Amino acid sequence: MIEKGEKTLSNFHNRAVFQTPSAHHDERRNGARPRFLILHYTGTRTGEAAADVYLGRTVDPGGRVSPHYMIDTDGRVFQFVCESRRAWHAGVSYWRGLEDLNSLSIGIEIVNEGETGGYPPFLPAQMNSLIPLCRDILQRHDIPPENILGHSDIAPMRRLDPGPALDWAALAAAGVGLWPMPEDSDRAAAPEILQDMTGALHACGYDPQADPGVLLRAFRSHFHPEAMENFSPETRLESAARLAWLLARLRDKIPPDRF
Ligand SMILES: [Zn+2]
Repeated sequence: MIEKGEKTLSNFHNRAVFQTPSAHHDERRNGARPRFLILHYTGTRTGEAAADVYLGRTVDPGGRVSPHYMIDTDGRVFQFVCESRRAWHAGVSYWRGLEDLNSLSIGIEIVNEGETGGYPPFLPAQMNSLIPLCRDILQRHDIPPENILGHSDIAPMRRLDPGPALDWAALAAAGVGLWPMPEDSDRAAAPEILQDMTGALHACGYDPQADPGVLLRAFRSHFHPEAMENFSPETRLESAARLAWLLARLRDKIPPDRF
């Protein structure tokens, strides 16, 4: 698809990873190791169009970008940047006091048109590759479930991806990331959280500099997609309960150290 002479250099669970090296990378800041996994959609219809940008064949108005991996519509996995290097997929970003998530993460782009296409579903072939690829990365770098995030979680003012169509519940069921399943204690805490959703979102890790409405959208896009278009009191309470569940899991975590 992309390069003549593409070859298989590594494997994950007996699957091929096609090597398509991009020049868009540099050193992780202060030798940081990957502690996060960030998921994206390409915003393109084809993998070819996205790869053209990552390989510098098409100049992107947003500047030079690159993920570590891209999953095409047929499920094939392409690697653009070595995991030891800092790929340029996240841009200006923030999570739990940390910035420059590029230095701290591995980025996976999934070919999907996203918002411009009306949030089309991610394809079964893509999910079938995404899950083992994520599991392989998480294991090798010992990345905890709460550190698997979407681009919109860490750059909510600029980015909508991977969007509400990504099945985070299926990912979590397969051992990739967190999916809130509120318990009685979370439901009991929900009314109070509802009084200050913005404060709770900040406590969760979202950027306190960002617009509160945008933060709520980012949270729902990841953790409560059914609420994207539904602002009923019941839905709002359910969002608060899910946020309570998430906070209860983050509370015990040691605050992330800096670089
Ligand atoms: Zn993105």
